[in-house]
Amino acid sequence: MKKKMAPDDKAIAPGSTIGVIGGGQLGRMTALAAARLGYRCHVYCPEADSPAFHVAQATVAAYEDEAALARFAEAVDVVTFEFENIPAETVRILSQHVPVRPNWRALETAQDRLVEKSFFNSLDIATAPWRPVLDRAGLGRAVAELGRPCVLKTARFGYDGKGQVKIEETTDLDQAWAGMGGQPAILEGFVDFEREVSVVVARGLDGNAACFDVVENRHRHHILDVTIAPAPIPHRLAGQAQDVARRTAHALELVGLLAVEMFIGKDGRLLVNEMAPRPHNSGHWTIDACLTDQFEQLVRAVCGLPLGCPERHSDAVMTNLIGEEVNQWLPLLAQKGARLHLYGKSEVRAGRKMGHVTRLRPRSDNMTNH
Ligand code: AMP
Repeated sequence: MKKKMAPDDKAIAPGSTIGVIGGGQLGRMTALAAARLGYRCHVYCPEADSPAFHVAQATVAAYEDEAALARFAEAVDVVTFEFENIPAETVRILSQHVPVRPNWRALETAQDRLVEKSFFNSLDIATAPWRPVLDRAGLGRAVAELGRPCVLKTARFGYDGKGQVKIEETTDLDQAWAGMGGQPAILEGFVDFEREVSVVVARGLDGNAACFDVVENRHRHHILDVTIAPAPIPHRLAGQAQDVARRTAHALELVGLLAVEMFIGKDGRLLVNEMAPRPHNSGHWTIDACLTDQFEQLVRAVCGLPLGCPERHSDAVMTNLIGEEVNQWLPLLAQKGARLHLYGKSEVRAGRKMGHVTRLRPRSDNMTNH
């Protein structure tokens, strides 16, 4: 028996339950935003000790557990994701019971760097030059074509620089290929970038899109360290970046959030690196600095509500608290203007995102390019 399933074009009203696949900090912050609008969240995650479980109803089960998935789908009114590496079968089972937003195509495209880069290029959106690499011989050919330096990445399941190696003049290709563990990979030309930027766009059930301002991201050891909002780039370039995000979301017919990461080359060219059809670390600043934040936009989008205004009311610098940095919580709380967000993770580990802090400044311009 189907319970409370709203037709696709009807709003899912406050009081309903949003199902979230994945129980990390993104799921946690989604649940907090949902609660503010009167929704409940039910989080599905295989790890019992998940930060989102502190603020939502929980199902602890494997993504392959068909019975648990079916029970979960029956108990919620819509399903969304806080990460994209979900098996196709999981999404298929959920879709039999309940609307799943964003759609499978968006997840599938973002799961594989080869599919993703082909997709961007098919929309005439520029990326670094790239080649698929399926074996050691293919790596030799691809390196000869693209030249060194270049970057070899596993096509799937890479994040925060994992499954990725820079190939310099002296890098041994046997070793580089061994690092891929025999999995399909992509070789990308190395981008000598001026800065890295990203854009988060929300797209509603009615096809309307709302873009947050473009931000600059600085990484440390391949992990996002600082996000600067707005990115100190010309308006023309910011407009281009937002246009890329909007076009991508429309092409995917995505309902929910899409984050697009890009390089700005030393030559001023915009090159897309990757996308994520979910809330994004580089969008955390919006909680404190925008009229509507990325998590509320996600709730609005997947529930078929009108999107909120994404306008930035303040400039912001968001700093991630990685590993032991979280132990600074007391002095951070004492800092005037520092907004502290902790994710409630029980164990501090090196490289683990434990929280973030956002510092606001008065808004620097009148950019209303949404
Ligand atoms: P990714 O996992 O693709 O997001 O890559 C992680 C980080 O590695 C990026 O944020 C960049 O700082 C760097 N990176 C990735 N690909 C390239 C590239 N083709 N050229 C230069 N730097 C890159």
